[in-house]
Amino acid sequence: MSISSSDLVFVPLGGSGEIGMNANLYHHHDRWLMVDLGISFADESMPGVDVVLPDLTFIEARKDKLEGLILTHAHEDHFGAIPYLWERLQVPVYGTAFTLALLRRKLAESRVDFDIEMHELDYNEPYEFGPFSVELLALNHSIPDPAALILRTSEGTILHTGDWKFDDAPQIGSNTDAKKLAEIGDEGVLALVGDSTNAMVEGRTPSEQTAFDGLTAEIAKAEGRVAITCFASNVARVDSIIRAAQANGRSVAIVGRALQRTIDAAREVGYLRDAPDFVKESDVGLIPRENVVIICTGSQGETRAAMARIASASHDTIELDAGDTVIYSSRQIPGNEPAIAKIQDMLIRRGMLVVTDDDAPVHVSGHPARDEMAEMYGLVKPRISIPVHGTARHLMAHAELARSCQVGQTLIPNNGIIIAFKDGRASEIGHVQTGALTFEGGEVIDIQSEQLRARRRMLWNGAVSVSVVVSAKGELLIAPSIAQSGLIDEERVDDFLATAALRIEDKMQDMTKKASSDDNIRQLVTAQVRSVAKSMVKRRPNVEVHIMRASQAELLS
Ligand SMILES: [Zn+2]
Repeated sequence: MSISSSDLVFVPLGGSGEIGMNANLYHHHDRWLMVDLGISFADESMPGVDVVLPDLTFIEARKDKLEGLILTHAHEDHFGAIPYLWERLQVPVYGTAFTLALLRRKLAESRVDFDIEMHELDYNEPYEFGPFSVELLALNHSIPDPAALILRTSEGTILHTGDWKFDDAPQIGSNTDAKKLAEIGDEGVLALVGDSTNAMVEGRTPSEQTAFDGLTAEIAKAEGRVAITCFASNVARVDSIIRAAQANGRSVAIVGRALQRTIDAAREVGYLRDAPDFVKESDVGLIPRENVVIICTGSQGETRAAMARIASASHDTIELDAGDTVIYSSRQIPGNEPAIAKIQDMLIRRGMLVVTDDDAPVHVSGHPARDEMAEMYGLVKPRISIPVHGTARHLMAHAELARSCQVGQTLIPNNGIIIAFKDGRASEIGHVQTGALTFEGGEVIDIQSEQLRARRRMLWNGAVSVSVVVSAKGELLIAPSIAQSGLIDEERVDDFLATAALRIEDKMQDMTKKASSDDNIRQLVTAQVRSVAKSMVKRRPNVEVHIMRASQAELLS
């Protein structure tokens, strides 16, 4: 790693090569600036893991040089790691009004009593962060108050886009500020570091107006109750649903804490203030079925969210019956499909009509498709494109698109890469430590820690526990006692246990006193058990070895 103090440098700690966990660093003249600090969600390859957090070791060691953390918007994959990791950095946090309003509520609910210094930033105002002059550019995205960052430095200007789309009929907020994009394009932009989520989608992302129209039409068709689930933070969508309900003479109830939290934050900063009063959750049963729309959490199949409980008829207050309609006004985040399908199956089996964005235009994306990305490149005209926020395929598709827009240089990063900008070119000059952490039992731990690796081994390969009693000289005093769970079928289990016991006895006979340390015994036993397991079932179980030291006399007494 060789960053010289004057270098202008970009280092992604997360989000490059994956969707989620955005965490980015910029460096210039010995000062650092962090942009976003997000989480991603674990999939079935990480049993027992809920959230995935970026490894901040590199910047923790330099936190005295960190000017601050600027948030582009309040999506979990951009700011969700703050309750877990802010303490390690203890820097001021900057963002737009809604971003900070939601952050305050999240922190209050997660019961961490961090005293975070927060500063609200306005669009189109210059703010000085050491050698960086930062200006926020207004965007449109599936959450209020999203911002791109214009980072002006003596080495050139970088546009860090954050998440965005063009929407000329946004239902709340504004369109992405194309005029400003053109202005900075005319000023000259060194590099664009940009969103790649929809880089493989042709055309343009439809407007929120399309979702409003689609929802209005679907509600009009419905005969009974209508329950609509969407991302809790999508305030424009909540607004679209409220107005679509009103257009159909229906009242609205809000069900789910995350939705309530977003609505409170939105109202605090001026959104949704014209919305009618909501029906109290406990009063939904009193309203004729054809006069109500229920907006609820759980669009991703989350087992604890409202939709899952409504589907399994175990919700405290909300009941749906055969003939009622459930609308998924959301996309399926990759990895969540099985969980979502399970809940939709339950609804269908109980006679509800399930409508998704495959059936009707009830959802639109918050990210730009290829024509919009090309339009942005046409306005900004950067010399360099650095695609971020996507898997390798997304980043490649984005880079290819940038080249077709006459961008002179593209550089596809992966997490931890150090990219230096010099004389109008970007080059890779090294790597920093990266990784993934999680939060468990009140602690942040490495996903590759022995604790979690052992759990994965147990889940996939079963577990074997072996107790051996050895003398002071290291002799095995009685036959090892072995138990297993989840490794092998019932018919072969006795065979496995006997074979493993014999192999351990055999090997331990040859053990000298000198070699009989606990560590050596543990290694020997583990190797024998794994070797038998491999030959019988081709699995590598988690092995636990208990060693007792006793004399013959003790055993006999
Ligand atoms: Zn976003």
